[in-house]
Amino acid sequence: MLSIRNLRVRYGRSMTALHGVDLDVPDDGVLAVLGTNGAGKSTLLRAISGTLRLHRGVITAGTIQYGDLRIDRLDPARIVRYGVVGVPEGRQIFARMTVAENLRAGGIATKPAERAAARKRVSALFPLLDERADQRAGLLSGGEQQMLAIGRALMAVPKLLLLDEPSLGLAPKLVERIGEAVREIHAQGTAVVLVEQNASMALSVADQAVVLSVGSVALSGSTEEIAASVHQHYLGTP
Ligand code: ATP
Repeated sequence: MLSIRNLRVRYGRSMTALHGVDLDVPDDGVLAVLGTNGAGKSTLLRAISGTLRLHRGVITAGTIQYGDLRIDRLDPARIVRYGVVGVPEGRQIFARMTVAENLRAGGIATKPAERAAARKRVSALFPLLDERADQRAGLLSGGEQQMLAIGRALMAVPKLLLLDEPSLGLAPKLVERIGEAVREIHAQGTAVVLVEQNASMALSVADQAVVLSVGSVALSGSTEEIAASVHQHYLGTP
């Protein structure tokens, strides 16, 4: 579905954040992207969603192929229209707008029938968002805001959903809830790139995983293979 080859990204004049990354997101699969702070995970998602320029970043080499389309030179709105939709780190919901208004904003570029189906999907996935429909989004808890951010992205009818650390700052129970939601979204036929520092959550949801380290792919494989390597690396046991 998504195929990245030799991707290089630079910020400003001299900060190279990705040094020739290769990776594939299988059709309808979930790819976990793991790595420590500063490894380049958010940069990778920004490159896919076309939003690097907002951060003074630029792709200096490589290709991002999405099905038959090459998307590495397209603007973000076009990439969303093709079905690649991101939830950036920190959620970035519209705090002064209500929950319902946030969801409406997510579906602004879709056809009415698609929008109605997407709204039903979001209701089924996160019933709490219906209960809070008229509440200002800024008053939601961190976990609820994350649900809203994912719900808003689903309103754009993604074929590929990009999630940047959805578990960040959430209590373990909510991390589990978000993991379940990602599993459900995947089961409904949407592919996902899941960037996480929470390796155990990400590996329990994904089929494939890559580990980024200072801007390069250090490991890639099935989640079982990566789980075994991570275990060995940190604990010294096979
Ligand atoms: P984190 O989990 O901390 O967000 P990350 O793996 O997502 O880490 P990135 O945010 O992609 O990492 O950052 C990769 C490298 O690029 C880091 O060294 C970071 O300091 C640098 N970087 C990120 N954004 C910018 C920017 N707008 N300008 C300059 N350097 C940046």
